[in-house]
Amino acid sequence: TKHFPVRRRLKDVFSRTHKAVHAVDDVHLTLRRGQVVALVGESGSGKSTVARLLAQLYPRTGGDIRLHGETTKVTSGSSFRRYAARVQMIFQDPFASLNPTHTIRYHLTRPLKIHGTAGDDLEKSLHELLERVSLTPPERYLDKFPHELSGGQRQRVAIARALGARPEALLADEPVSMLDVSIRLGVLNLLRDLKERLDLAILYITHDIASARYFADETMVMYAGRMVEGGDSETVTQAPAHPYTQLLIESAPDPDRLAGAADVADEDRGNGEPPSLINPPTGCRFHPRCPKAMARCSTDEPVRLEIGDVPGHWAACWLYDKNEVAK
Ligand code: SF4
Ligand code: MG
Repeated sequence: TKHFPVRRRLKDVFSRTHKAVHAVDDVHLTLRRGQVVALVGESGSGKSTVARLLAQLYPRTGGDIRLHGETTKVTSGSSFRRYAARVQMIFQDPFASLNPTHTIRYHLTRPLKIHGTAGDDLEKSLHELLERVSLTPPERYLDKFPHELSGGQRQRVAIARALGARPEALLADEPVSMLDVSIRLGVLNLLRDLKERLDLAILYITHDIASARYFADETMVMYAGRMVEGGDSETVTQAPAHPYTQLLIESAPDPDRLAGAADVADEDRGNGEPPSLINPPTGCRFHPRCPKAMARCSTDEPVRLEIGDVPGHWAACWLYDKNEVAK
């Protein structure tokens, strides 16, 4: 296949390709330090699977994850720790990811010990972590239990814990979707601020394309385990090329509500359901729902094609096949 080369090899690059039969396939993405990449899709699109594969929490049946250009594979507890020191995951539900029987101090001390990042003064390091996520004064939080904090504060603790490893990349799987609408923006702004200050690469997984536009430099759209469109966030959200992205944007509740959008976004939008990944449609996986489907769409799997003149904007859709246009 002639993939459009979205996988740029730069220094400070973290990239992967996955080729599993049923779950996710043909996923190429590159994270760079100081940048947020959004991976947008409905539930069941495989976006969380991509995050867990990238975090090396799931075994991979194929493909490649590269850190600074070097292939990495977790083979043992110690290679996992080395990898996790550079690539940390933040989960959707901060309550589930924190142990209710342990204090915040315990949760934050662990990564500092495991990764040897505490320095000489553990207490000072703990304070710094909490200050980084704006839980101040730190002594107010350190000896509390997770249930004594609000959802937003718990997610900040989860972020602080991830930072304890001093990672280069954060993989954030729907980090604000379980939080109150009113505090989502604050947590996204915190992540953006950390990206700048710590020069982090962030993968932001979301079903809310409006928040991707607000928060991410680059946006990739997934459908049924495939990446169907990618480019800079402004372009993908303002001038979406793939019919699926167009549908996502048309049905987004209100683009101006930014991160406050869409708990409804994961539900059926009235235009069919995403297909099962176990037995996906042939050809273009979107063809049963696509208003623009052509004959070849049900048989030929689309390749990534460059769109227009915006560098880096691509879609996996036959509408953009120059040969098709010439016919
Ligand atoms: Fe629609 Fe065909 Fe493009 Fe798939 S390849 S999105 S079915 S036009
Ligand atoms: Mg998910």
